Amino acid sequence: FTTILALFISIRSYQNMAVTYRDGETIAQQYREIEKANAKLNRMACTDQLTGLYNRRYLMEHVLGLYEAYQNSRMQAVFLMIDIDYFKQYNDIYGHLKGDDCLRQVSAVIRKYCQENGMIAVRYGGEEFLALKFFENPEERDRARELQRRIEEAGLPRTDTRNQRVSVSIGVWSGRLQELGSFEAALKFADQALYDAKNAGRDCICHYCGGDVQENS
Ligand code: GH3
Ligand code: MG
Ligand code: MG
Repeated sequence: FTTILALFISIRSYQNMAVTYRDGETIAQQYREIEKANAKLNRMACTDQLTGLYNRRYLMEHVLGLYEAYQNSRMQAVFLMIDIDYFKQYNDIYGHLKGDDCLRQVSAVIRKYCQENGMIAVRYGGEEFLALKFFENPEERDRARELQRRIEEAGLPRTDTRNQRVSVSIGVWSGRLQELGSFEAALKFADQALYDAKNAGRDCICHYCGGDVQENS
């Protein structure tokens, strides 16, 4: 009787262990699925739907944090504020859907350029983009000209402008984070350089260099 009882108890305890293990596996599996769904939600919350670039929320939640973490180091940064020229007019002539298409194509060029240059690409506003990077190497140069050339070479046609292609103006700020101050200041300076590029006739690049804005193309 004792043997049978012992056998019965060990079978039951084995069954309990098996159930516990199965429950644990199920919970772990559900947990993994929730984690995956959360990661997807986070990605979606930080991504611009039309272009697939990062959005402003990502800029303010993640890039701002990076900026602040680097602020008391020797780190430097370059910010390119990129804006499509006469885009309202493009919409008026070709329609909003073609306008969306144009935004996607310009974004694809910016994304590739940023991937190749270790930069973060953000859709900053309607037809305005921000490409930026932090770096330590003083030799690092911004290659805004290269980006501008690539967008031009994408050859998006339009008949209402001088060179008959979609073009962008770019405002550049680059410098040491220590000397600059706040993240907002870096954005403001890049924006100011962009404003100057627009005033200089568009389809050009202006650099903000600590007080002076220099047109260089
Ligand atoms: P500038 O050369 O000074 O930059 O002139 P602009 O016409 O490009 O600038 P403006 O700010 O006057 O107009 C921007 C236009 O961008 C107006 C708006 O309808 C368009 N736009 C903003 N977001 C979108 C979008 O998601 N899709 C489309 N198709 N158009 C958009
Ligand atoms: Mg514009
Ligand atoms: Mg604009």
